[in-house]
Amino acid sequence: RRRIAVMTSGGDSPGMNGATRAVVRMAIEKGCEAYCIYEGYEGLVQGGKFIRKMEWSDVRGWLSEGGTLIGTARCMAFYERPGRLRAAKNMILNGIDALVICGGDGSLTGADKFRHEWPGLVDELVSTGELTTEQVEPYRHLNIVGLVGSIDNDMSGTDATIGCFSALGRICEMVDYIEATASSHSRAFVIEVMGRHCGWLALMAGVATGADFVFIPEKPRADNWKEEMCTIVARHRQLGKRKTIVIVAEGAHDQHGNKISPEQIKDLLADKNGLALDTRITTLGHVQRGGTACAYDRYLSTLQGVEAVNAVLDATPTTPTPFIAINENKITRKPLVQAVEDTKEVAKAIEAQDFDRAMSLRDTE
Ligand code: ATP
Repeated sequence: RRRIAVMTSGGDSPGMNGATRAVVRMAIEKGCEAYCIYEGYEGLVQGGKFIRKMEWSDVRGWLSEGGTLIGTARCMAFYERPGRLRAAKNMILNGIDALVICGGDGSLTGADKFRHEWPGLVDELVSTGELTTEQVEPYRHLNIVGLVGSIDNDMSGTDATIGCFSALGRICEMVDYIEATASSHSRAFVIEVMGRHCGWLALMAGVATGADFVFIPEKPRADNWKEEMCTIVARHRQLGKRKTIVIVAEGAHDQHGNKISPEQIKDLLADKNGLALDTRITTLGHVQRGGTACAYDRYLSTLQGVEAVNAVLDATPTTPTPFIAINENKITRKPLVQAVEDTKEVAKAIEAQDFDRAMSLRDTE
């Protein structure tokens, strides 16, 4: 019987538990044995108690749980070949030949590297006497499938990542709370949301809450941004609005690459010689990541987890490593390497202020 393992890695995101649950149950449904690797790559490198066989009932109730119940970690050892060699040995000792990884682009890059190196790692385990030829023989090929778990929705090639709609919902809920108090006191609030290279959360939250102004990395502000923002806020106030909401992504900057900080925006709105608004800053921080998954992330992680197991069972030694995407509401399989490369290029293009390139890469089908 085949043994399929699932792991979560990198930053946690709501819906990771749904993905783990779906992979475990679909693997069992297809007559395979299901395993969980606890604590991301760290668990794979350490082995032992971090690699556990899972039964159907072990993941009962996981859909409605936030975070990731099998843990996640950043693992320095996995960046180096000796760490990956230990990981390979632990996989073989546990009889695992397929790995489904739910994580961000870093985790999926590591996964692809591991698969490429796999034949060499197996040979080395034999030549150094750590394992015998008989032990490694059934494990000549490693199967890897990626699931994208990230609140940022920053992966090229997919319309949504597991967790992004939960984080967006959380931001909107928080802005609603803030709006009530802002209106009562006629205050302005500058709300910082996550997103270093990707303004999806900030932009969508701006639309969904009817914010007065939004700053995102993909749209660096021209030199007159201060006047532009103040003019718009002043107009909204003249129309009778008692509250002002400005949403700023962590990675917001001007066209010279200078960071636009919440403090700067606050000082401007509060300027006694200008709008003179009573202004506060709220940094939402980790509430964006935490909490339960919304209905969409439960559904997405379940369908994608099922598809990940199907992809494992369909794979041949020459199939390029896939990741599971969603495009125009259809669950799809895409080459992982291309999407990871495009995602990294987008980040580079944004840093280099080449926004046309960034947008075209992000939209790559
Ligand atoms: P997030 O979106 O939250 O940043 P991520 O998956 O991109 O998630 P990373 O910290 O980049 O998070 O990666 C998680 C782990 O994956 C790392 O700690 C490391 O163990 C492994 N990893 C990442 N990049 C590589 C790489 N190039 N080679 C080998 N392993 C890697």
